[in-house]
Amino acid sequence: MFLYLLAGFIVGSAIGSFLNVVIDRSIRRENILAINRSYCDHCKATLRTFDLIPILSFILLSARCRYCKKPLSWQYPIVELSTGLLFSLTLWILISSATFSLGLVLYYLFLVSAMIVVFVIDLKFSLIPTTLVFACSFVSLFYNYFSLPSNLFVEHVFAGFFASLFFLMIVLVTFGRGMGQGDISLAFLIGITLGIKATILAVFLAFLGGALISVLLIALGRKRFGQTVPFAPFLVFGFLISLFWATPIINWYLLMLY
Ligand SMILES: [Zn+2]
Repeated sequence: MFLYLLAGFIVGSAIGSFLNVVIDRSIRRENILAINRSYCDHCKATLRTFDLIPILSFILLSARCRYCKKPLSWQYPIVELSTGLLFSLTLWILISSATFSLGLVLYYLFLVSAMIVVFVIDLKFSLIPTTLVFACSFVSLFYNYFSLPSNLFVEHVFAGFFASLFFLMIVLVTFGRGMGQGDISLAFLIGITLGIKATILAVFLAFLGGALISVLLIALGRKRFGQTVPFAPFLVFGFLISLFWATPIINWYLLMLY
């Protein structure tokens, strides 16, 4: 088991390195698949293979560019570390589950990677990469079609439409302040992936997380009351928690009720 988790971490941090490239290039509208090598944002020096080892090269270079000594963005090691940890966590959860299959592992790792990209892009630029979100929805639709019985498949599709309708109503009522079209498409992905119950949990967790962080930021004086905070990171948070632990959380909640 430990070897699987270690392998998951190493592969994850390498994928995280790639996700950093996706995040930066999608914003600069550069070709994600172009083979030109990564370069320093300040001096444009092409990074050597040795500078591209996830996490380690950041530590070895003490967070500075080898050539111009300007500070490197903390985004790089944080995304690499988080992807590594989330890949290990995904393997750990799926290996001990009854529905374990290679297809399921790849499906979950794909969703986790895409959600890291959505999280960072919304946090940095207050934008949601809707093309990526729609591509994920399509993958979920495809995966569910082949893995779920038809009644559950229909339920998941309905959950997608209900969740996006719910966010559409919020956008209309608040005149688009705080939430936008991106959140509606993200809600569709969450619904179609999770089904009705787990989607309700994910959205609830997102609002709970959003409220707690907003209160914290106001208390720390980092935000004023009424100022908006990007919401997609909270939707991603709720989505992943619900993707991994919806069944135990919902069972625990039902036990508390009765
Ligand atoms: Zn440099």
